[in-house]
Amino acid sequence: MDLTPTEEEREFRARLREWLAKVLPELPAKPSPDDWPGRRAYDAGWQRRLYDAGYAGLHWPVDAGGQGAGPTRHLIFLEETERAGAPYVGANFVGLLHAGPTIAAEGTAAQRARWLPPVLRGDEVWCQGFSEPGAGSDLAALRTRAVRDGDEYVVTGSKIWTSHAEVADWCELLVRTTPVGPDTPKHRGITWLAMPMDAPGVTVRPLRTLAGSTEFAEMFLDEVRVPVGNRVGAEDDGWRVTMVTLSFERGTAFVGEVVACRRTLGDLARTAKANGRWDDPVVRRALGRLHGEFGALWRLTQWNVGESERSGGVPGIGGSVFKLAYSHARQELYDVAAQVLGAGSLVLDEEWVLDRLSSLSYTIAAGTSQIQRNIVAERILGLPKGR
Ligand SMILES: Cc1cc2nc3c(=O)[nH]c(=O)nc-3n(C[C@H](O)[C@H](O)[C@H](O)COP(=O)(O)OP(=O)(O)OC[C@H]3O[C@@H](n4cnc5c(N)ncnc54)[C@H](O)[C@@H]3O)c2cc1C
Repeated sequence: MDLTPTEEEREFRARLREWLAKVLPELPAKPSPDDWPGRRAYDAGWQRRLYDAGYAGLHWPVDAGGQGAGPTRHLIFLEETERAGAPYVGANFVGLLHAGPTIAAEGTAAQRARWLPPVLRGDEVWCQGFSEPGAGSDLAALRTRAVRDGDEYVVTGSKIWTSHAEVADWCELLVRTTPVGPDTPKHRGITWLAMPMDAPGVTVRPLRTLAGSTEFAEMFLDEVRVPVGNRVGAEDDGWRVTMVTLSFERGTAFVGEVVACRRTLGDLARTAKANGRWDDPVVRRALGRLHGEFGALWRLTQWNVGESERSGGVPGIGGSVFKLAYSHARQELYDVAAQVLGAGSLVLDEEWVLDRLSSLSYTIAAGTSQIQRNIVAERILGLPKGR
């Protein structure tokens, strides 16, 4: 893959850098972590600015409302926005980074036209209703039931760990449309639906995390009516659509954060030099090792993004390698931060501490490390399948 920038791409970088320098100082103050309506408005406002300036959905296909830009432009965008300290996608995570791309890849023309432009404009927020109390790593064990009634599905069940459910308009929801039986293994009989969060029968109950915020929620679905037209892919073929969603979630959704981690690492090294921790060879070695690790992860990001563009826009299995390595490197980064900051890293309101606590979840969310290792072992290394 040749990532040498062309003259046009160099100009794109310069224009983007100039635009960021102009708009970032105009942004309102960041809302507090628990102010969800405020966070939604802030994230939507940033997305709207990107949209108006022509930077939304850069690498999305043109017929899905995107700009159809190649991997280099996409990577330049990630680098420049993170380098400038631009806001992160936040509440728009699911819509922009995996529900939207799934609809772009698997939805009908009408579904793309209905759901994608509001995601790109920041008008509608999505959440993900995959996990259930008895179905996380073993996602195909899900039990939320959808029974067809005319041109609607009637959905009953419960979901858990639904990030941003409190402020979401839509949910990418997995339901069981055919019960497991002798002719239906659990991976069959699942269907992928877009469920409006304001439908009667949807109850959202926020859950408080270790870091103190209500980042996610449990969701109860009591005879919720979802139009059949909201089904993405065929009935009972939702597992295949889910694999597309997960390949975006593991393969490309976190890649921008690698640049952010490199920035954080730089801040940490400067802090260590200022407070004397740099003199400790153990701290210095850890910082150096992480520098190498995040450099390698950025290379892997470039490869994954290039690869997914070449294979028709859906990331491949390399995403599991990335997710596994990235989530551990991120935890290590905040462990080293605690060594550099000393007692300062115990003050709960400090952003560093909140980031450290939330880094613990990265090896669980989007599929645990053990599951990623199973995938790497079976599908990349060709080792025998587990039970
Ligand atoms: C911050 C955060 C946000 C999340 N957001 C969402 C969301 O928005 N929507 C959503 O649907 N879900 C969300 N999740 C849920 C997440 O996808 C699940 O937590 C994850 O898939 C693990 O499932 P589980 O918690 O049921 O653990 P379990 O599946 O019960 O696993 C428990 C332990 O057993 C191990 N294990 C299980 N099976 C195997 C196996 N076959 N081989 C080896 N080890 C195994 C696991 O690795 C883990 O260590 C979120 C989770 C977190 C932490």
